[in-house]
Amino acid sequence: MPSPPRAARARTAVVVCALSGALAACGGGEQRATPSSSGSPAATTAGRAAPTPAPSAAPTLPAGPGGAAPVFSHGRREGAKRVALTFDADMTADQDRRAAGGERFDHPQLIATLRRLKVPATVFMTGKWAEQYPDQAKSIGGDALFEIASHSYSHHAFATPCYGLPAVAAGSARADVERSFAAFRKAGVEHVVPYFRFPGGCHDAAALRAIAPAGVTAVQWDVVSGDAFAKQAGPVVSQVLAQVKPGSVVVMHCTRSAAPVTEEAVRRIVPELRARGYELVRVSDLVAGG
Ligand SMILES: [Zn+2]
Repeated sequence: MPSPPRAARARTAVVVCALSGALAACGGGEQRATPSSSGSPAATTAGRAAPTPAPSAAPTLPAGPGGAAPVFSHGRREGAKRVALTFDADMTADQDRRAAGGERFDHPQLIATLRRLKVPATVFMTGKWAEQYPDQAKSIGGDALFEIASHSYSHHAFATPCYGLPAVAAGSARADVERSFAAFRKAGVEHVVPYFRFPGGCHDAAALRAIAPAGVTAVQWDVVSGDAFAKQAGPVVSQVLAQVKPGSVVVMHCTRSAAPVTEEAVRRIVPELRARGYELVRVSDLVAGG
């Protein structure tokens, strides 16, 4: 559970989100408690509908209790020092209008920086983002540096309350997840991995059961970058470097309007992590490592 300062930051994020009209990037503040799924026996999928097809082979975790989707929050703490930077490409279903008005939910400069610095990364993309920026989605997914995972289709809440996000319609959690993968296919995205990040990280046991038929592993994080709505890169850099441990999953955003300092933060974080002996990897690399 978060320390008091982090809880305070989470409260601040909620306030900012409310002021910002429930802007999509309001994840990364805090995650809900969830039953551990580590060490759970694998559940059979026999008798269920076929899971969402994953275009590329990627390591997954065994199902959690009762066949619920497994949850991955960080990799091994021992052994090699590896860390995964993850970027949520947020876009909520009702933000087309804002995009049409000029608001940018993409961040090509961030992607260019990751490429220039040769930083492997996992992008958790909403289906709406792939529909709004199909060329960028295809380009990111076609780059061997990156892998694309689902951040839902609509960026609605899968468990409430969740930073003011509207809730996914009852009974449609699985369909929302599968619709995101369909949007990736339509955009011609390669390197799609069967991972799912809950909008806002908000989930409970029911949500994990609801998305299980989609065949995804839920991916949370253990390092909150605090990049959503940050005005300066310095505090983001300090926060990441102070929290990161071997196996860490860092949550950041690939949404320029909501996370304008992320690109600068990455430019400062990456060399420092490498100087400390960390190898930057994708989430699938951490999952594969146990
Ligand atoms: Zn998000």
